[in-house]
Amino acid sequence: MPTSPIDAEDAGAPARRLTVLSGPSGVGKSTVVKKLRADHPEVWLSVSVTTRAPRPGETDGVEYFFAAPEEFDRMVAEGRMLEWAEFAGNRYGTPRAPVEERLRAGTPVLLEIDLQGARQVRASMPDSFHVFLAPPSWEELVRRLTGRGTEPPEVVRRRLDAARTEMAAEKEFDATLVNTSVEDVRDELLALIQAPRV
Ligand code: ADP
Ligand code: 5GP
Repeated sequence: MPTSPIDAEDAGAPARRLTVLSGPSGVGKSTVVKKLRADHPEVWLSVSVTTRAPRPGETDGVEYFFAAPEEFDRMVAEGRMLEWAEFAGNRYGTPRAPVEERLRAGTPVLLEIDLQGARQVRASMPDSFHVFLAPPSWEELVRRLTGRGTEPPEVVRRRLDAARTEMAAEKEFDATLVNTSVEDVRDELLALIQAPRV
């Protein structure tokens, strides 16, 4: 008989260990995930493939696998993406095999992906748990996205356009966390990842 929530989860469908984190660009998803994984490396974060150029400080295979468009398209055509989407002029996708491997092994898996990708995962893996990260206000989101200084104004504008659509979809998610304090959100997200799901 299961004696703890973890045991109970082990006895259930492994796909229940899949958590999707989504939210508008600049809200702080990467910051929160980095902080969570610093303390909890046992939570496995999927490394996505993207056609966008690396930002200063980003390393191939760490933040992303950086791929040429043709290489990305080949992966899609061969069915090697669990989900993929075009976001603000670039393509992003989750390699399927590593995720399925971790889920089979019972490892908690975290995907940090956009709304279109989250919808695809919802459809293909209905046991997944979806968390929306929201900004404290629209003004603060704009401040964070522009303050990060990683995109030119035209790209910031495209990302804010996408953000309006993403904010309107919050109700599709199983839980919303407001990113006022990174530490608070880290703790709340960890609790959701570890919670038994029945
Ligand atoms: P995302 O991954 O969602 O695009 P980032 O993690 O890159 O967002 O965060 C965008 C910017 O906001 C970064 O400069 C980051 O340091 C800052 N940031 C993240 N969380 C907070 C927070 N709780 N309070 C203030 N600034 C934050
Ligand atoms: P960025 O260029 O700021 O790293 O990411 C832009 C957007 O793409 C973010 O909303 C991020 O969550 C999303 N994203 C990153 N990886 C993936 C992925 O594999 N699939 C999808 N659908 N979106 C992704």
